Amino acid sequence: METIDTMKGKRVALVTGAAMGIGLACAEAIAKAGYMTVLVDIKEPSEQARKLVEEGFGAVAYRCDVSDTLAVKEMIEWVVGKYGRLDAAHNNAGIQTPQRPMAEITDEEFDRTVAVDLKGVWNCMRYEIIQMLKQGSGAIVNTSSQGGVTGLPGQAAYIACKHAIIGLTRTAAIDYAAKGIRINAVCPGVIRTPMAEDLIHRNPELETELVRDIPAGRLGKPEEIANAVLWLCSPQASFVDGHALLVDGAFSIH
Ligand code: NAP
Repeated sequence: METIDTMKGKRVALVTGAAMGIGLACAEAIAKAGYMTVLVDIKEPSEQARKLVEEGFGAVAYRCDVSDTLAVKEMIEWVVGKYGRLDAAHNNAGIQTPQRPMAEITDEEFDRTVAVDLKGVWNCMRYEIIQMLKQGSGAIVNTSSQGGVTGLPGQAAYIACKHAIIGLTRTAAIDYAAKGIRINAVCPGVIRTPMAEDLIHRNPELETELVRDIPAGRLGKPEEIANAVLWLCSPQASFVDGHALLVDGAFSIH
Protein backbone atom coordinates (compact mmCIF):
# COMPACT_ATOMS: atom_id res chain seq x y z
CA MET A 1 0.00 0.00 0.00
CA GLU A 2 2.78 2.41 0.92
CA THR A 3 4.32 2.28 -2.54
CA ILE A 4 1.33 3.90 -4.28
CA ASP A 5 2.62 6.92 -6.20
CA THR A 6 1.03 10.30 -6.70
CA MET A 7 0.03 11.37 -10.19
CA LYS A 8 3.49 12.85 -10.51
CA GLY A 9 4.97 9.53 -9.45
CA LYS A 10 6.23 10.67 -6.07
CA ARG A 11 5.28 9.68 -2.59
CA VAL A 12 4.70 12.63 -0.28
CA ALA A 13 6.27 13.13 3.16
CA LEU A 14 6.48 15.81 5.81
CA VAL A 15 9.01 16.31 8.59
CA THR A 16 8.52 18.73 11.48
CA GLY A 17 11.38 20.55 13.18
CA ALA A 18 13.15 20.23 9.85
CA ALA A 19 15.13 23.48 9.79
CA MET A 20 18.07 21.84 11.52
CA GLY A 21 19.36 18.90 13.54
CA ILE A 22 17.66 15.51 13.38
CA GLY A 23 14.68 16.84 11.40
CA LEU A 24 16.88 18.32 8.70
CA ALA A 25 18.89 15.08 8.35
CA CYS A 26 15.65 13.06 8.16
CA ALA A 27 14.10 15.41 5.61
CA GLU A 28 17.26 15.17 3.52
CA ALA A 29 17.27 11.36 3.63
CA ILE A 30 13.56 11.15 2.84
CA ALA A 31 13.81 13.66 -0.03
CA LYS A 32 16.84 11.85 -1.49
CA ALA A 33 14.89 8.57 -1.26
CA GLY A 34 12.45 10.10 -3.73
CA TYR A 35 9.63 11.51 -1.60
CA MET A 36 8.20 14.96 -2.25
CA THR A 37 9.20 16.27 1.18
CA VAL A 38 7.73 19.20 3.10
CA LEU A 39 10.15 20.64 5.68
CA VAL A 40 8.01 22.09 8.46
CA ASP A 41 9.50 24.35 11.13
CA ILE A 42 8.55 27.22 13.41
CA LYS A 43 11.26 29.37 11.89
CA GLU A 44 12.46 30.34 8.44
CA PRO A 45 14.29 27.53 6.62
CA SER A 46 17.98 27.32 7.55
CA GLU A 47 20.62 27.67 4.85
CA GLN A 48 20.94 23.87 4.65
CA ALA A 49 17.17 23.43 4.37
CA ARG A 50 17.09 26.08 1.63
CA LYS A 51 19.92 24.26 -0.16
CA LEU A 52 17.94 21.02 -0.12
CA VAL A 53 14.94 22.83 -1.59
CA GLU A 54 17.08 24.59 -4.21
CA GLU A 55 18.97 21.42 -5.17
CA GLY A 56 15.67 20.17 -6.53
CA PHE A 57 15.35 17.08 -4.34
CA GLY A 58 11.59 17.54 -4.35
CA ALA A 59 11.62 19.44 -1.07
CA VAL A 60 9.71 22.51 0.03
CA ALA A 61 9.74 24.51 3.28
CA TYR A 62 6.61 25.42 5.26
CA ARG A 63 6.48 27.56 8.41
CA CYS A 64 4.24 26.24 11.19
CA ASP A 65 4.19 26.08 14.98
CA VAL A 66 3.19 22.49 15.75
CA SER A 67 1.69 23.51 19.10
CA ASP A 68 -0.93 25.58 17.23
CA THR A 69 -3.76 23.16 16.36
CA LEU A 70 -5.31 25.35 13.67
CA ALA A 71 -1.94 26.04 12.04
CA VAL A 72 -1.23 22.29 11.91
CA LYS A 73 -4.64 21.59 10.37
CA GLU A 74 -3.97 24.26 7.73
CA MET A 75 -0.47 22.89 7.10
CA ILE A 76 -1.73 19.34 6.44
CA GLU A 77 -4.55 20.70 4.26
CA TRP A 78 -1.96 22.70 2.33
CA VAL A 79 0.22 19.61 1.80
CA VAL A 80 -2.72 17.50 0.62
CA GLY A 81 -4.15 20.35 -1.50
CA LYS A 82 -0.80 20.81 -3.26
CA TYR A 83 0.49 17.24 -3.54
CA GLY A 84 -2.69 15.19 -3.33
CA ARG A 85 -1.74 12.80 -0.52
CA LEU A 86 0.50 12.14 2.47
CA ASP A 87 2.44 8.88 2.59
CA ALA A 88 4.89 9.46 5.42
CA ALA A 89 5.14 11.87 8.33
CA HIS A 90 7.92 12.35 10.84
CA ASN A 91 6.67 14.29 13.86
CA ASN A 92 9.99 15.45 15.23
CA ALA A 93 9.80 19.08 16.40
CA GLY A 94 10.74 19.40 20.04
CA ILE A 95 12.24 21.73 22.63
CA GLN A 96 14.28 21.16 25.79
CA THR A 97 13.23 22.50 29.18
CA PRO A 98 15.92 24.35 31.15
CA GLN A 99 17.75 21.69 33.19
CA ARG A 100 16.58 21.93 36.79
CA PRO A 101 15.15 19.55 39.39
CA MET A 102 11.42 18.97 38.91
CA ALA A 103 10.11 21.28 41.66
CA GLU A 104 12.10 24.20 40.19
CA ILE A 105 10.55 23.97 36.72
CA THR A 106 7.94 26.71 36.37
CA ASP A 107 4.36 26.12 35.20
CA GLU A 108 5.10 28.21 32.11
CA GLU A 109 8.12 26.04 31.23
CA PHE A 110 6.11 22.86 31.80
CA ASP A 111 3.15 24.12 29.73
CA ARG A 112 5.33 25.19 26.78
CA THR A 113 7.23 21.89 26.81
CA VAL A 114 3.99 19.89 26.80
CA ALA A 115 2.51 22.18 24.13
CA VAL A 116 5.39 21.61 21.69
CA ASP A 117 6.77 18.18 22.60
CA LEU A 118 3.51 16.32 23.25
CA LYS A 119 0.56 18.37 21.94
CA GLY A 120 2.60 19.14 18.81
CA VAL A 121 2.89 15.42 18.05
CA TRP A 122 -0.80 14.94 18.93
CA ASN A 123 -1.86 17.76 16.59
CA CYS A 124 0.20 16.49 13.68
CA MET A 125 -0.84 12.86 14.14
CA ARG A 126 -4.53 13.72 14.23
CA TYR A 127 -4.57 15.50 10.87
CA GLU A 128 -2.09 13.11 9.26
CA ILE A 129 -4.28 10.17 10.28
CA ILE A 130 -7.43 11.86 8.95
CA GLN A 131 -5.73 12.09 5.54
CA MET A 132 -4.14 8.62 5.68
CA LEU A 133 -7.52 7.07 6.49
CA LYS A 134 -8.86 8.52 3.22
CA GLN A 135 -5.98 6.86 1.36
CA GLY A 136 -6.06 3.63 3.36
CA SER A 137 -2.28 3.84 3.85
CA GLY A 138 0.51 5.78 5.49
CA ALA A 139 3.45 5.61 7.88
CA ILE A 140 4.04 7.92 10.84
CA VAL A 141 7.21 8.17 12.95
CA ASN A 142 7.23 10.21 16.16
CA THR A 143 10.47 11.36 17.74
CA SER A 144 10.66 10.28 21.36
CA SER A 145 14.08 9.87 23.00
CA GLN A 146 16.22 7.48 24.99
CA GLY A 147 14.61 9.59 27.71
CA GLY A 148 11.31 8.04 26.63
CA VAL A 149 12.35 4.78 28.28
CA THR A 150 14.60 6.04 31.11
CA GLY A 151 14.64 8.90 33.60
CA LEU A 152 17.27 11.60 33.17
CA PRO A 153 18.23 14.21 35.78
CA GLY A 154 16.85 17.74 35.60
CA GLN A 155 14.51 17.15 32.64
CA ALA A 156 11.20 16.14 34.23
CA ALA A 157 8.85 17.97 31.82
CA TYR A 158 10.77 16.93 28.72
CA ILE A 159 11.10 13.30 29.85
CA ALA A 160 7.41 13.13 30.77
CA CYS A 161 6.55 14.17 27.19
CA LYS A 162 8.98 11.70 25.66
CA HIS A 163 7.46 8.83 27.70
CA ALA A 164 3.99 10.01 26.69
CA ILE A 165 4.93 9.98 23.00
CA ILE A 166 5.64 6.26 23.24
CA GLY A 167 2.26 5.61 24.90
CA LEU A 168 0.53 7.72 22.27
CA THR A 169 2.40 5.94 19.47
CA ARG A 170 1.52 2.47 20.77
CA THR A 171 -2.14 3.26 21.32
CA ALA A 172 -2.64 4.97 17.98
CA ALA A 173 -0.79 2.10 16.26
CA ILE A 174 -3.38 -0.31 17.66
CA ASP A 175 -6.25 2.01 16.70
CA TYR A 176 -5.17 2.21 13.04
CA ALA A 177 -3.21 -1.01 12.34
CA ALA A 178 -6.11 -2.54 10.41
CA LYS A 179 -6.56 0.66 8.38
CA GLY A 180 -3.18 0.46 6.65
CA ILE A 181 -1.51 3.10 8.82
CA ARG A 182 1.67 2.20 10.72
CA ILE A 183 2.76 4.39 13.64
CA ASN A 184 6.18 4.01 15.26
CA ALA A 185 8.54 6.04 17.42
CA VAL A 186 12.26 6.60 17.13
CA CYS A 187 14.18 7.09 20.38
CA PRO A 188 17.47 8.89 19.72
CA GLY A 189 20.33 8.81 22.18
CA VAL A 190 22.48 11.89 22.48
CA ILE A 191 22.86 13.15 18.94
CA ARG A 192 25.19 15.93 17.91
CA THR A 193 22.65 18.57 16.86
CA PRO A 194 22.23 22.27 17.72
CA MET A 195 20.01 21.18 20.67
CA ALA A 196 22.77 18.95 22.09
CA GLU A 197 25.54 21.44 21.22
CA ASP A 198 23.61 24.07 23.17
CA LEU A 199 23.53 21.85 26.29
CA ILE A 200 27.24 21.03 25.92
CA HIS A 201 28.09 24.69 25.36
CA ARG A 202 26.40 25.59 28.66
CA ASN A 203 28.20 22.75 30.46
CA PRO A 204 31.50 21.90 28.69
CA GLU A 205 32.14 18.84 30.88
CA LEU A 206 28.83 17.35 29.83
CA GLU A 207 30.18 15.74 26.65
CA THR A 208 32.81 13.73 28.56
CA GLU A 209 30.18 12.71 31.12
CA LEU A 210 27.71 11.73 28.40
CA VAL A 211 30.21 9.69 26.40
CA ARG A 212 31.26 7.84 29.56
CA ASP A 213 27.69 6.47 29.78
CA ILE A 214 27.38 5.49 26.12
CA PRO A 215 28.76 1.99 25.44
CA ALA A 216 29.38 2.97 21.82
CA GLY A 217 31.83 5.57 23.17
CA ARG A 218 30.55 8.53 21.18
CA LEU A 219 27.57 10.75 20.46
CA GLY A 220 25.29 9.80 17.59
CA LYS A 221 25.01 11.58 14.26
CA PRO A 222 21.74 13.01 12.88
CA GLU A 223 22.19 10.79 9.79
CA GLU A 224 22.02 7.70 12.02
CA ILE A 225 18.55 8.73 13.16
CA ALA A 226 17.59 9.55 9.58
CA ASN A 227 18.47 6.01 8.44
CA ALA A 228 16.19 4.54 11.13
CA VAL A 229 13.32 6.93 10.31
CA LEU A 230 13.59 6.28 6.59
CA TRP A 231 13.42 2.53 7.23
CA LEU A 232 10.42 2.87 9.55
CA CYS A 233 8.62 4.88 6.84
CA SER A 234 9.47 2.38 4.12
CA PRO A 235 7.65 -0.75 2.92
CA GLN A 236 10.66 -2.73 4.26
CA ALA A 237 9.15 -2.09 7.72
CA SER A 238 5.65 -3.16 6.65
CA PHE A 239 5.00 -5.32 9.76
CA VAL A 240 6.72 -2.97 12.24
CA ASP A 241 3.98 -1.12 14.08
CA GLY A 242 3.75 0.51 17.51
CA HIS A 243 7.49 0.03 18.00
CA ALA A 244 9.80 2.40 19.89
CA LEU A 245 13.16 2.03 18.15
CA LEU A 246 16.15 2.96 20.31
CA VAL A 247 19.06 4.42 18.34
CA ASP A 248 21.35 5.29 21.21
CA GLY A 249 24.65 3.38 21.05
CA ALA A 250 23.33 0.99 23.76
CA PHE A 251 22.95 3.77 26.39
CA SER A 252 19.55 2.74 27.67
CA ILE A 253 20.16 -1.01 27.92
CA HIS A 254 23.44 -1.06 29.83
P1 NAP B 1 17.04 21.07 17.27
O1 NAP B 1 18.42 20.98 16.71
O2 NAP B 1 16.75 22.10 18.32
O3 NAP B 1 15.97 21.21 16.09
C1 NAP B 1 14.60 21.24 16.38
C2 NAP B 1 13.89 22.12 15.38
O4 NAP B 1 12.48 22.15 15.73
C3 NAP B 1 14.38 23.57 15.44
O5 NAP B 1 14.49 24.12 14.15
C4 NAP B 1 13.29 24.24 16.25
O6 NAP B 1 13.19 25.63 16.07
C5 NAP B 1 12.07 23.51 15.72
N1 NAP B 1 10.91 23.75 16.56
C6 NAP B 1 10.89 24.04 17.89
N2 NAP B 1 9.64 24.26 18.30
C7 NAP B 1 8.84 24.11 17.22
C8 NAP B 1 7.44 24.22 17.01
N3 NAP B 1 6.62 24.59 18.01
N4 NAP B 1 6.94 24.00 15.77
C9 NAP B 1 7.77 23.66 14.74
N5 NAP B 1 9.11 23.56 14.89
C10 NAP B 1 9.64 23.77 16.11
O7 NAP B 1 16.64 19.67 17.92
P2 NAP B 1 17.18 18.19 17.61
O8 NAP B 1 18.30 17.91 18.54
O9 NAP B 1 17.35 17.99 16.15
O10 NAP B 1 15.94 17.36 18.16
C11 NAP B 1 14.87 16.98 17.30
C12 NAP B 1 13.98 16.04 18.08
O11 NAP B 1 14.76 14.94 18.57
C13 NAP B 1 13.33 16.68 19.31
O12 NAP B 1 12.01 16.17 19.46
C14 NAP B 1 14.21 16.20 20.45
O13 NAP B 1 13.52 16.17 21.66
C15 NAP B 1 14.58 14.81 19.97
N6 NAP B 1 15.81 14.28 20.56
C16 NAP B 1 17.00 14.89 20.37
C17 NAP B 1 18.14 14.34 20.94
C18 NAP B 1 19.50 14.96 20.74
O14 NAP B 1 20.46 14.49 21.36
N7 NAP B 1 19.66 15.95 19.89
C19 NAP B 1 18.05 13.17 21.71
C20 NAP B 1 16.81 12.58 21.88
C21 NAP B 1 15.69 13.14 21.29
P3 NAP B 1 13.85 26.59 17.22
O15 NAP B 1 15.33 26.42 17.09
O16 NAP B 1 13.36 27.96 16.87
O17 NAP B 1 13.34 26.11 18.56
